[in-house]
Amino acid sequence: MPSPRQDAEKEIIADALFHNGDWTESLQIYQALAKDGLVDPADDWILASDYICLLSLGAGPGEAERFIENLPESVYQNRSYLQASNHYRRMGNEAGEVAISLRRIRSGKWTTFGDFDHLGQILERNLSPRELLDTLKQLDREFQNMPVVQWHLLKAELKLDLNEDAALRAQMLLKRKAIGQYGFSNEKDYRAWLQKIAGAPSPWLKANEIRAIPEHYHMYLQPVGEIDLELLDAAADMASRFFGTRIIIRPAIPEPTQRDVYTNDLSGYVGQTLLRYLASARKPPEDAINQLFVVNRRFLVYGRGQVRDLYRMGLGTVISTDLLQSHISDEGERTRRLAAMIIRHFKYYVERSQGISFDDAPNNKPCVNTQFYFSQDPKFAYCPECVANYRNASWDQIHAFVQALPMKIAFQPDYGSRPKIRQSTIDNIKSYVDEVQAAMKGIEEAATGH
Ligand SMILES: [Zn+2]
Repeated sequence: MPSPRQDAEKEIIADALFHNGDWTESLQIYQALAKDGLVDPADDWILASDYICLLSLGAGPGEAERFIENLPESVYQNRSYLQASNHYRRMGNEAGEVAISLRRIRSGKWTTFGDFDHLGQILERNLSPRELLDTLKQLDREFQNMPVVQWHLLKAELKLDLNEDAALRAQMLLKRKAIGQYGFSNEKDYRAWLQKIAGAPSPWLKANEIRAIPEHYHMYLQPVGEIDLELLDAAADMASRFFGTRIIIRPAIPEPTQRDVYTNDLSGYVGQTLLRYLASARKPPEDAINQLFVVNRRFLVYGRGQVRDLYRMGLGTVISTDLLQSHISDEGERTRRLAAMIIRHFKYYVERSQGISFDDAPNNKPCVNTQFYFSQDPKFAYCPECVANYRNASWDQIHAFVQALPMKIAFQPDYGSRPKIRQSTIDNIKSYVDEVQAAMKGIEEAATGH
């Protein structure tokens, strides 16, 4: 690793040569320095980006392009990519510019807005609508959300007759304050055009109206300790009808008795520790695309305080009936709220398995997936954005994601303990795992009559 001072020196050399004004002379000095081993533009992105520029201006396209093409990916950073595409642009070599820009997008190194107006146009000229759509969807959400990128995505969807996707995109764009006026003489005309594409608002749908869950995958609820099974049954039934698949309630496992799972005043669980215990003791069945732990106490979450409904860590989830039991007296309403919690929890697996981050996830009231739905009346349907995410999800990816969860959140003897877990906690978790296994064996023996 070069020191900050070496980096600073290189910047100064590069800057001085760059501003010399005589490209050929600067290039000669640069090459002399390289020959003496003082600089190596092929090994350093700061130097590489200026060297590309000097070659392009001082030596001609042949040498510049040889250097660009042979530069290893590790030396490419946003700035070197930018200089490389500037070179092709300067030469009027659109194919070269498209190729290097695609490489830049696919490398995930698109870290500046750059001149996307120009890039969007050349990509549109040189790629099929399908290739353009797939390429733009590789950009980070932040860049995908730029109005100019939205405009290109929308046009590609229309060309591919993806009318539902286009309508939804137009609806989302119309909600924004600033959307530009791409292809139109003013924003008002652009909005009128979007309005036509948006058509009637997309419907809110239940999961079973969007697509069926394949029969070989199942959803599971795992009660912990003494849970009101009548309530859980009724809520699971309601959520089952929403998804169009039966949600299986597994036999209850014993509640941990180890002291470190509880808060100092014993009023509730320590959320993080609890989830480690549960995930270690009860892995999702092999056919599970969803497993949810259900407890009846509140959680303490460091940095967040008391949580009385839903807690996630590393995306493993526990829900608590505590708030429902103490705040809602009507039985039907209690069932409805618990069913909504079961449904909302699945949102994270659907979104994370597609790489949708927390910040980009939809949160449209009163969608059943909305956070903090306790303050309002949840509608038992997905909003159009959640509909799109549910429609685009891959069952196999969700399955792989859920199956990998215990590795992330459990204590795994095979993977060693993470430094954050104390030895006493590891010992406690091991004893809890043994207790759960013994209890489950008892239940199985009773069931089979042995
Ligand atoms: Zn939603």
